[in-house]
Order: sequence, then C-alpha cells, then structure tokens
Amino acid sequence: MQIPNYKDFMSESKRIKILELLKTPEKTGIGNNVTIKGWVRTKRGNKNVAFIALNDGSTIHSIQVVVDLANFDEELLKLVNTGACISVEGTLVESPGAGQSVEVHATQIHVYGSADPEVYPLQKKGHTLEFLREIAHLRPRTNTFGAVLRIRHNMAFAIHKYFNDKGFYYIHTPIITGSDAEGAGAMFRVTTLDITNLPKTETGDIDYSQDFFGKSTNLTVSGQLNGELAALALSEIYTFGPTFRAENSNTPRHLAEFWMIEPEMAFYDITDNMDLAEDFLKYLIRYALDNCYDDLEFLQKMYDNELLERLNFVTNNDFERLTYTRAVEMLMASGQAFEFPVSWGVDLQSEHERYLVEKVFKKPVILTDYPKEIKAFYMKQNEDGTTVRAMDVLFPRIGEIIGGSQREEDYEKLVARIHELHIPEKDMWWYLETRKFGTAPHAGFGLGFERLILFVTGMANIRDVIPFPRTPQSAEF
Ligand code: ATP
Ligand code: MN
Repeated sequence: MQIPNYKDFMSESKRIKILELLKTPEKTGIGNNVTIKGWVRTKRGNKNVAFIALNDGSTIHSIQVVVDLANFDEELLKLVNTGACISVEGTLVESPGAGQSVEVHATQIHVYGSADPEVYPLQKKGHTLEFLREIAHLRPRTNTFGAVLRIRHNMAFAIHKYFNDKGFYYIHTPIITGSDAEGAGAMFRVTTLDITNLPKTETGDIDYSQDFFGKSTNLTVSGQLNGELAALALSEIYTFGPTFRAENSNTPRHLAEFWMIEPEMAFYDITDNMDLAEDFLKYLIRYALDNCYDDLEFLQKMYDNELLERLNFVTNNDFERLTYTRAVEMLMASGQAFEFPVSWGVDLQSEHERYLVEKVFKKPVILTDYPKEIKAFYMKQNEDGTTVRAMDVLFPRIGEIIGGSQREEDYEKLVARIHELHIPEKDMWWYLETRKFGTAPHAGFGLGFERLILFVTGMANIRDVIPFPRTPQSAEF
C-alpha cells in the first residue's frame, strides 16, 4: 500500500503562518505564491484597490493584503469586513509601505465567514478592557488579548522547561479534595446530593455518607499537601494546576479559579527555597523578554510605558530579604497613614506590601519569619516559639506573588500544632505519616500564575490575563 503524503490531500496545509511570512520572508521567496488565512482586522482603500490587514494570531503583527478591485467580484468583497475570516492566495511582494517588510497581492479570496458590520462588536476603534470582558468569547481577536495569551503560553512553557532542566518532576495533584485543612481560603463544595432534598443523619446534620465519595468534598485550594507526599519520594517535584478559592474578594488580584505552580523540594531549607524562588522568577521574566518582545513592546505602548524597564530591572537586581518583624518596624516608623494600621501580628495587606516594595526598597522583597498565628499549620516553627519559617515574595504593582515556607518535618511539633488549631487529626493521617516514616527537611512555595502574568504583561486587572475569568457573580463563557 502506498502511504499518501499528508500534505498532498490536505489542501488546508498549504497555509503559511503570518508570523513566518513576516519574520522570514526569504524562506518563502519574494514573487512566490502563498496562501494565508486569518481574520480581517481592517479594510481600507479607494475605488481601485483595497488594503486588508489580516491577522491569524501567530503574531501581534497583521500582514497587508492588497486587492486589485478590477480582479474581484464586488459582492465577494462586500463580505470581507472587519471580523470576517478569509483565505487569501496571492503573491508575496516587498512592501513599499512603512512598517512592514512584505505584503500579499491577492489572486484569490475565499470567505469562510463574514461578520456583519452592523452587529459585530469588535470594530476598529479601541474598546475599554471592561467592555472586552463582556465579550470574552471574542476578545482573543484583539491585539491586547492576542499578546496576553501568547505571553501566557510562553510562560507556561518556560515553567515546565525551567523545572525539567533542573530535574524536577511534574506531579498531578487532585482537584477534588476530601481535606479542608489547608486553611488557604474558603472552598467550593463538590457534591452529587440533591441540594433541594438533602439526606440527614439522626442528629440532623447533612449525611455525606450518601454523597458520591461517601464524605464531604471540595475543590482544592492548593496542591501542596499532595505535592509534599511526592517530594518525600522523588526529592524535587512541582505541580501546575487549577486551584479554587471561594473568597468573596473583588480585587484586581484575586480570581475564584486560578492556576498555581507549586514546587516542593526535599533537603531544601528556607534559604534554598528563597534562592530557588528568586532564580525562577528571574528566569521566567528573562524568558518573556527573549521570546515575547513584540507582544511586550505592544503592551508597553498601549498600557504601561515603564513595562520593559521594570522587567529588566527585576531580572538584573537582587531581591531584598528581611524578616516580617523588621518590615513591621519599618512600616510603623514610616509615618504613612495606611487604611489598615500596622502592628506586630497583623497580616500585611497589599498596601503595606507595595509600600515596602515600591517606596522603601524599590525592588522585589522577600519577607520571612512571620508570626505563626497568621500562617498555615504546616510551616516550620522557629526556636523563638512565636514565628515560623515562612517566605512571601512581594512584587511591584502586585504585592504577594509567591507564598512559601520550610515545612515542619518534626512529627511531634506538627501534631501539637494541629491540635492547637483544632484541625481534625483523623483527616490528616496520611500527611502525618510522612513525618513518621522517613521524614526529611523540605520546603516549597506557590506562585500564582495569573499574578506572574499580571506582572509580565503590565496589565492592571487579573481578569484580563486569563481567557475566561471566574470571579464572584461571574461565570459566563
Ligand atoms: P493573598 O494574601 O494575596 O490573598 P494568599 O496568601 O491567600 O494570597 P497563598 O495561599 O499563599 O495566597 O497562595 C500562593 C499564591 O497564589 C499567592 O502568592 C498568589 O500569587 C496566588 N493567589 C492566591 N490567591 C489567589 C487568588 N484568589 N487569585 C489569584 N491568585 C491567587
Ligand atoms: Mn500567601
């Protein structure tokens, strides 16, 4: 049997990406025939010729398609409006116009789908980001969201590359969890019970033994506890998955569904953990500068004229490291009128974090050794009896981007803390056994993926760096 050449019968595969044509036109060759496909951004021209800006999402740049009106049916061209999807066959020509190296002179146009200009919501003029959130199904077709989504992809890829190159293993932790002990935030319940007719126990409580898993379950707020189990076998692991928090905080930095990267390392102490976090963040930002320059340049021009400078600055300077106690002293001595007053023991708010980063040190800051009362049960207790070996990485414009710690590896101390906090020990038996059998010093942290994308893109609202945001009162699309 003869195996057909895939390309021979796949006429669609003749298509060339616009990125390739613009970046390496010599590969195709001036004067040669090309097929491009994409969505019309704009159409302008005069009675003899039309100029179409065509974009296929492979790059922020659109390619100019020149249409000699004498060669085309008027009815066909009427369908080629902003938003229409078309296929163009034509000749690759050096462009006389400024700002573009090559253009395509059309010999054939096929319209896959037109877009009625009377109702297509994405017209040429700039739309507000708020309006674009209401049409999240179409906003990937804007330059802004094309740029954000390409950067998001590159960052996800770079995260896997970074850890793979360092010998970390990617672990998939469960999304449905039976433990609600993480304490990282309010949880979404997962159930198949009939909520209009809940089964009750003799004492009048909801009878979860009749639920799908035979117990009460939720969507996870973090993969860490499961990640630790794997780190205590494979030494260095990371997770990268969705997490869910039902916190009703309507801020530009919180989502109800977000993605988190959580490395967990056996034989790392808090300093190793900080070194890794700093190196990791610098690597990712450098990767964006090296691989997403056109998109970053566009975002800088549109939204944030200090973006590239800020990204370069962070990759080139050491992060400031100091204790929570020292930071609180500095905040109290600052004379600033904060909305939330500061004293030793309070959880720092984003206004405090940003003051330290943006006003005091003017660079990223890592705070360590927080009061144990405001941190999770699993953090390693310091000798002073009041603080734990926590580390939060604070970034300009964002506040907390990473939260992490060295973990308590001592079984007795961990159990004592669980009792103090009234966490049901019976739910944690599997976690506690890792400290009973071959325990090891270990540490890890969680990076909020969307907070990273916020920083790298310079966007101001977390709803604009995830394709389809989930926030209070909002789960459309
Ligand atoms: P915050 O104090 O900012 O609400 P947190 O202390 O509750 O955050 P952690 O539990 O330490 O957050 O989670 C680790 C990381 O996950 C944070 O540093 C942040 O980058 C990210 N993160 C936490 N909550 C959210 C959220 N609701 N939306 C997006 N990212 C989040
Ligand atoms: Mn935190």
